[in-house]
Amino acid sequence: MIEQAKNRPYIIAGPCSAESEEQLRAVAASLTQNGIVDLFRAGVWKPRTRPGTFEGIGVQALPWLQNLQSEFNLPITIEVANADHVELALKHNITNFWLGARTTVNPFYVQEIADALKGVEANVLVKNPIHPDIDLWTGAVERIVSACVESNVGAIHRGFSTFQTSQYRNIPRWEIPIELKRRLPNLSLICDVSHIAGSRDLIAELSQKAIDLGIKGLMVETHPNPKEALSDAQQQITPEKLYDIVSSLVLKSTSIGDNVFINTLEELRAQIDKIDEDIVNAISSRLALTREIGSYKKENNVTVFQLERWKEIVASRSAAGENLGLERDFIHKLYEVIHSESIRIQTEMVESKLSS
Ligand code: PEP
Ligand code: MN
Repeated sequence: MIEQAKNRPYIIAGPCSAESEEQLRAVAASLTQNGIVDLFRAGVWKPRTRPGTFEGIGVQALPWLQNLQSEFNLPITIEVANADHVELALKHNITNFWLGARTTVNPFYVQEIADALKGVEANVLVKNPIHPDIDLWTGAVERIVSACVESNVGAIHRGFSTFQTSQYRNIPRWEIPIELKRRLPNLSLICDVSHIAGSRDLIAELSQKAIDLGIKGLMVETHPNPKEALSDAQQQITPEKLYDIVSSLVLKSTSIGDNVFINTLEELRAQIDKIDEDIVNAISSRLALTREIGSYKKENNVTVFQLERWKEIVASRSAAGENLGLERDFIHKLYEVIHSESIRIQTEMVESKLSS
């Protein structure tokens, strides 16, 4: 299903949501003129987190997309979230679909869509579920594969929701699509950099990262006037910007990309990236608690440095590290750095009280 051009990744591009026939035409004209689109995307029914926001044009957008498909000779893909969506789309000659993250979480809906697709010549891409559950993602792909031709089914990695503070809207957790690919080696995998990023500034680096990991295709939300978009305005880019990004990508040798999804070094680095992100987030949460303790100490006139507490931290963390095969001395030094930052923060809090 995913046939990659020689000089660039497979590109799925188009607006987050279909808004008007003019908007769709403007995006399609620019993308095709620049030769940077293989499949045109547009959301018709939008599963928004909160009610009261733009929920998509709905069925009225289907004839617009049908016209666009023939006018530009460009295949169109839309998100389907239930069997009715599939049937309505098929009536408008749309046979490429993706399942959104909020649909993949629910096997009832996935099965309903799979049943509606039985015997239909369709291409289907399954996004990962909102939370990092590899079995749920695998299961959704399997349900769709059981209804369709296997080679017409692929997956889209769109990152995972998190409570941690992160520069991303949805954290990538690259090890999860890597594991999906290990389980299902023939599955085409696309990276939806827009929904991982959440902001247009991160699209270029995420696209390169996906390519470096051996992912062959990108999904990128494009809009003629991104800031005015009715949904996901912060993450959409113009077709011209997409052209610049795609032209600047450094592609990997196809002989590696064809046979091996990812080389070992990249795979290990992806895991380290994830762990480092967790470490930085954990330190940030720890220092937030330090500040809370700092204000408590300040209110109660307790000294910042508490020798007994410090001794207990060093002893218990060193012992825990030792149980995991880490040098006591290494853990001690690590905690000295962390602890001195806590003391610095709390001392500053006391000084700000004295000077106020
Ligand atoms: C979308 O692609 O516009 C969308 C709603 O994506 P997701 O299901 O990944 O949130
Ligand atoms: Mn979107």
